[in-house]
Amino acid sequence: MAIRQDENQPNRRFGIINLVLIGFGVLLLFSNFLPNQSTQVPRVPYSLFIDQVNDNTVKRAYITSDQIRYELKEAPSEGAPTVLSTTPIFDMDLPQRLEQHGVEFAAAPPSKPSFITTALSWVVPPLIFIVVLQFFARRSGMGGAQGALSFTKSKAKVYVPDEESRVTFADVAGVDEAKTELAEIVDFLKTPERYAAIGARIPKGVLLVGPPGTGKTLLSKAVAGEAGVPFFIISGSEFVELFVGAGAARVRDLFEEAKKKAPCIIFIDELDAIGKSRSGSMGVVGGNDEREQTLNQLLTEMDGFAGKDKPVIVLAATNQPETLDAALLRPGRFDRQVLVDRPDLSGRRTILDIYAKKVKLAAVVDLDRIAQATAGFAGADLANLVNEAALLAARSYRTQVEQADLNEAIERVVAGLEKKSRVLQPDEKKVVAYHEVGHAIVGHLMPGGSKVAKISIVPRGMSALGYTLQLPTEERFLNSKEDLEGQIATLLGGRSAEEVVFGAVTTGAANDLQRATDIAEQMVGTYGMSDTLGPLAYDKQGGSRFLGGGNNPRRVVSDVTAQAIDREVRSLVDRAHDRALSILGHNRELLEAISQKILEKEVIEGDELKELLASSVMPGEAVAG
Ligand code: ADP
Ligand code: ZN
Repeated sequence: MAIRQDENQPNRRFGIINLVLIGFGVLLLFSNFLPNQSTQVPRVPYSLFIDQVNDNTVKRAYITSDQIRYELKEAPSEGAPTVLSTTPIFDMDLPQRLEQHGVEFAAAPPSKPSFITTALSWVVPPLIFIVVLQFFARRSGMGGAQGALSFTKSKAKVYVPDEESRVTFADVAGVDEAKTELAEIVDFLKTPERYAAIGARIPKGVLLVGPPGTGKTLLSKAVAGEAGVPFFIISGSEFVELFVGAGAARVRDLFEEAKKKAPCIIFIDELDAIGKSRSGSMGVVGGNDEREQTLNQLLTEMDGFAGKDKPVIVLAATNQPETLDAALLRPGRFDRQVLVDRPDLSGRRTILDIYAKKVKLAAVVDLDRIAQATAGFAGADLANLVNEAALLAARSYRTQVEQADLNEAIERVVAGLEKKSRVLQPDEKKVVAYHEVGHAIVGHLMPGGSKVAKISIVPRGMSALGYTLQLPTEERFLNSKEDLEGQIATLLGGRSAEEVVFGAVTTGAANDLQRATDIAEQMVGTYGMSDTLGPLAYDKQGGSRFLGGGNNPRRVVSDVTAQAIDREVRSLVDRAHDRALSILGHNRELLEAISQKILEKEVIEGDELKELLASSVMPGEAVAG
């Protein structure tokens, strides 16, 4: 993909103005030096000058407003006559006195420097003003030279793909699911007629969700590259300006430009910078008018363009999808979400392959080992790793990158990442492994319409260190009391495994507990599933349920009832906890076996997982053999 930035050239005009300014600067310097010549004339006190006039030793004098230069009658034995100067004092009698003593005198014409200074004082300030304006105009938009102040121009860069340098899906690795989803978008862009003919609505927005450096930008470029369409890239933070309205105007401008080049892709990085939930910021220092206007404009633009055969598709990236305004995620806007996660072992291996091809690698290098040692690295970290290794090799005058270079590079990159706490220590990894396997075993044995599909201890997202994926086996709209109890037990399975194995718990289970408690509260308060409290809804259903607000206010209840609710919630969670503990105690060996396996492989899924979990037993069930 060629980096052909679609910029006008304010440079030339800028250059001319600079030249003029420099010229004036030089003049100004000279004019400052001019008076300095007169300092070579010795200065004397005014009283001495008067004495000399009175003694009739002065031949002639030139008088200006700030200096009197005079020449003495008697020249020294050889050379030029003596010239002296003095500073004039307000003295009305001077002309008379000079005349009396026969001094030839004249007032000098106004000095040359004063002319230049005057000229400069007229010309320089406007020039400075113009230069400052130019500077702002350049900063605020690519069309700087056209308008005096183009704050409203979008700052998007445009990449037009060309054959040799375009990015394709082959350049992105380890994110296969995301690629599959985006392949569809490529198809929309390539043959929009096909979709238009059948009356299908082409999606307008796709949200790429994932931690930094996992290749969201790269993927979007690859979509543009695969489809052979222009690619506009801008960061959400660039819309947010000091001036209310500027961001909105920029959004408008961006879409205007994009429509001219349709079919094309707009990529908005850091969408959260403009798309933060409005309900959250309400009331805080009068809200954020500018961001809200910008967001509204974006929504309007996305609703507006219908371009059936010339689609403009907006791809946006964020690592905090939960903070986004719900309005952004509605149908017709960013209704598709694609997870772009950190790569697993085999993903890391393929990414390493891509970047290893770009450096000279020794034949003996074992990239599998490197992939194993880099759990938690994002694509960008791996690219960085290979580059660091190449730098190390070059520094020690080697012609090839060797295993030792890569190993040392890992340490360097890890040191950088550790500051951002993204890499697990070996003992932490062990805790995470048992924790996740705990979820999996309990989850497998619990009733309800879902099965454990995948266990991973590749650090994911911002907080989760590992995860256990449960997929529903059938479409379900209703959950029974048993299902929900099972869910609570499964959520507590992680913490219970830590207790069974290590006899202690870590902070890693906080989110599990939160969710487990929420479910228990809803069972009692919303669904009336408690035997003691009966089928009453103690929660008031607020409208905030759809915005994921969660916390429903409680109906007004007596103290006794409030205590009873708390006790009931507590006992639901406690029972589930006991259940999880007993299951894991019963399956202690299996817990051990799967944990060891996942420590080696990082991810277990599919048939392998199914087989492993099949040998788990419910406490109280007869164990064969
Ligand atoms: P994000 O937009 O998710 O923060 P980027 O796309 O900017 O990440 O990634 C930065 C760089 O890291 C890319 O230009 C690429 O060199 C490298 N990179 C990241 N992820 C991958 C990947 N999955 N495959 C190949 N290279 C990657
Ligand atoms: Zn957990």
